[in-house]
This record gives sequence, structure tokens and C-alpha cells, in this order.
Amino acid sequence: MTRVAIIGAGIVGATAAFYLSQEEGVEVTVYDHGVGQASKAAAGIISPWFSRRRNKAWYRLARLGADFYPRLMQDLEQVGQPSQAYEQTGVLVLKKKEEYLDEVMERALAKKPESPLMGELEFWTRDQVQQRFPGLAGFDRAFWASGGARVDGGVLVQDLLQAAGLEPIRKEVKLSWDQGQILVEGQAYGKILLTTGAWLGKVLEPLGYQVDVRPQKGQILDYQLDEVTDTYPVVMPEGEADLIPFRDGKVSLGASHENDMGFDLEVDPQVLQELVDQMQAYYPRVTGLEATGVRVGIRAYTSDYSPFFGPLPDQDHVWTVSGLGSTGLTIGPLLGRELALGILGKTGDLDPADYPVSRYVNR
Ligand SMILES: Cc1cc2nc3c(=O)[nH]c(=O)nc-3n(C[C@H](O)[C@H](O)[C@H](O)COP(=O)(O)OP(=O)(O)OC[C@H]3O[C@@H](n4cnc5c(N)ncnc54)[C@H](O)[C@@H]3O)c2cc1C
Repeated sequence: MTRVAIIGAGIVGATAAFYLSQEEGVEVTVYDHGVGQASKAAAGIISPWFSRRRNKAWYRLARLGADFYPRLMQDLEQVGQPSQAYEQTGVLVLKKKEEYLDEVMERALAKKPESPLMGELEFWTRDQVQQRFPGLAGFDRAFWASGGARVDGGVLVQDLLQAAGLEPIRKEVKLSWDQGQILVEGQAYGKILLTTGAWLGKVLEPLGYQVDVRPQKGQILDYQLDEVTDTYPVVMPEGEADLIPFRDGKVSLGASHENDMGFDLEVDPQVLQELVDQMQAYYPRVTGLEATGVRVGIRAYTSDYSPFFGPLPDQDHVWTVSGLGSTGLTIGPLLGRELALGILGKTGDLDPADYPVSRYVNR
């Protein structure tokens, strides 16, 4: 029997827990503090194809991460835990200068052959958009991709843990050394997964590691709009403020990207007002709406904005991952599965050497 400890049950830890629970001869214990978790605070947009980022390793991960979602949904269904957290509702991209939409289309068409998941690509008139999402304004033309999706990170984490039959132990775990071996809360485990997101430094630095991961605060508003159904698409105007509708009528507006705030989780009304002001040009109704909730979470960034995963440089029974940034819900499930395979010595779809831990974590 291999005893595996998973520290952190955001999207990565929960997916790893789910896939490890399918393996014979593996006993999994999940620990999760849960405070400030990015996965349950996230906007949930799964649409990496139109990014202007040139980092090829990152784009490959993002593309494969988006492609992995339908498979994850199937795998959950197969074990009798179908999830409604993910849905391909389509995305609308809006630009202040509408000629820039031509560039979006150009980039999308270039990537489409290897990413058929992005679906139909079209320009829509304002009337076409309004039929799909009444109340949107401030533009004549929008870019439409039918395969863009949204996911409710909090719901997906719950569904994965339930499918795994695992309830996390709710505590902030401390690691320690014992004769060159890392212990979890004083206990030895055969394998350890550190899926602690932005908190990786807090976990590893007391053991003498240097960790290049910094926190970024994100805030997001939730509204309840009764008319909203599962046919409403995600709306991505230029800037930070996106609209993400869910099938139960919840519509999220976000999210902020706040550096230099450390692990602060206070709601900042001024930042929220800025999100509303940005969205006002495209969804004038938003100004009069009362929010039903605010979520605050902490993203993890490395100094070159690249994620990493794999074994710790000097401890090959301890695998870790972090630096998922603002696309962590997109790439998190794929990385969770890669960690589950990797820790058991199996080969996945990615090579950890392309995302080396040693670039960001050292003793
Ligand atoms: C506001 C916001 C909007 C976002 N929008 C999107 C989006 O639209 N699309 C997208 O793809 N991504 C988005 N992201 C990014 C995405 O949410 C994250 O990158 C991703 O969820 C990170 O997952 P994770 O599992 O690595 O970390 P997390 O979800 O943060 O989970 C880490 C968990 O580890 C726990 N932990 C840490 N230390 C310990 C310890 N010592 N002991 C026990 N538990 C511990 C934490 O409490 C937490 O629960 C957004 C993020 C935010 C904050």
C-alpha cells in the first residue's frame, strides 16, 4: 500500500486526489486549509486560445488544459459523479478599437487546426449578441467562439473530492525534517503532493527552501439575475472586467489583479467599484445591480509568469506545482492528473522537464 499525502485541495490537489483514488493499492489523505483558495474565488473562464502570450511551453499547457476538460467530465461521469461545473457556453470578445478583433480572428484561425475545441469562430453584430445576452451595449461588432467555456471552480473541487470519496482534513499543515525525509504533521508518507498554490513558500521556506512564488490578490463580484440561463455566453471586453454567467442565474463580474497586497483577503470596495465602472460601458445595467456576494482569492505567480510541476530537486517522492497565475483553472485539472501519474512513476502527457521545479524551488 502506498500512502500519499496531498497538501492543498484547490483544483490541482482535488484532481490529483480524484485520479489517485482510482488506483489500486494507494491510500490518499488530503489536507486543506482552504483560506483564500484561488479555485473557489476564480472567475472560471476557459478560453486560452486568443492570448497574445508568446511563451510556447505555457501555451501548450493552456491548450492541452482546455482540451482536458471534456475528458475530466467523462471520467467523473464514469464513476457515477457527473458534474455540471463545466459548460461550453461560448465566449464573446469585445475590443475598444474594433479593428483589433481582426487580429483576434487571425490568431484564432492560426491556432484552430490544433485546437478544434474552440469551435465556430465568427464576427457577430450587436443585434446577434443581444439575442444571446440581452442588455450588452457599447460596440458594433464582437468576436464569437462557440467552444469557450466557464467552470465553477468551487463546485468542481467538491465534485472531484466527492467522486474520490475523500473529505479533506481542515488544517494548515506544517512540514518538518526527519533524517533527510520530509514529514507531514510529524508523519511519514510514501509520497507527498504539495498542491498549496500561492502558499508554497510558506510551506517550504521553514524547511530551508527558497521559493520563487508570489501572491496576487483577486476580487470578484457575484450577482443573481433570474433571466440568465445556460445559453448565456462569457463576455470578455478589454481590461480586467469580464462577465461570467452560470446556469443557476449567478453572474460573476471580475476579476481584479492586485500585486503588492500579499495574502490580504479584505474586501476593497474601491477595487470592486472599478470593476463595475469598467463593465458599465458594455453592460449599463450593472450599475444598478446589488451584488449578492464578493469572493477574494490569491493567485500564484513566478517571477517569469511560468508555472512549474514535478519532483522537488532533492526529494523525488515529493512532487509539487505552482505558479498557475490567472489561467490556473484552465491548466489545473491537467496538472493534477499529471501529478497523480508522476508520483506513481507513470508517464503522463507532459514532460516535467519542460516546466522545471528547480528553476523556482531550491535549498
Ligand atoms: C479572482 C480570481 C479569478 C480567476 N479567474 C480565472 C479564470 O477565469 N480562468 C482560469 O483559468 N483561472 C482563473 N484564476 C486562477 C485560478 O483560480 C488559479 O490559478 C487556480 O485555481 C490555482 O489552483 P491551485 O490548486 O494551484 O491553488 P488553490 O486553488 O489556491 O488551492 C491551494 C489550496 O492549498 C491550501 N493550502 C495552502 N497551504 C496549505 C497548508 N500549509 N496546509 C493545508 N492546506 C494548504 C490552500 O488553503 C488552498 O485551499 C482566477 C483566480 C482568482 C483568484
